[in-house]
Amino acid sequence: MKPTHIEHIGIAVENLEEAIAFYENTFGLECYSIEEVKDQKVRTAFFKVGETKIELLESTSPDGPIGKFIEKRGQGVHHLAFAVNGLASNLEELKEKEVRLIDEKPRKGAEGLNIAFLHPKSTFGVLTELCEKPKE
Ligand code: ZN
Repeated sequence: MKPTHIEHIGIAVENLEEAIAFYENTFGLECYSIEEVKDQKVRTAFFKVGETKIELLESTSPDGPIGKFIEKRGQGVHHLAFAVNGLASNLEELKEKEVRLIDEKPRKGAEGLNIAFLHPKSTFGVLTELCEKPKE
């Protein structure tokens, strides 16, 4: 496998509105989308920086993955997402290389992308996501 670019960087925040205002007022970036991903118990806000996006993540519940992350480690960088082609076969390849996968199969993420997470134990402590644009 070979990622084509960094699709986005996910940042866990306590208050999405506050964080959006900061990104807009401080960096001059424009939030173009706010989306709730129910099964992940998060609300997300997206900004484009060139080809790469910043994904701000606010937990909608203390027992969701972002809620637990903030409780343990505080606000900050939560994950790194690579854009890839052929996500399903990439996952097979990683499995053969004995990389620990959180998602064995692609699933639906924010923005309609097909996504899968790799376990941070296998990736030097960085939760890593692979994203693929669904075929039209
Ligand atoms: Zn993500």
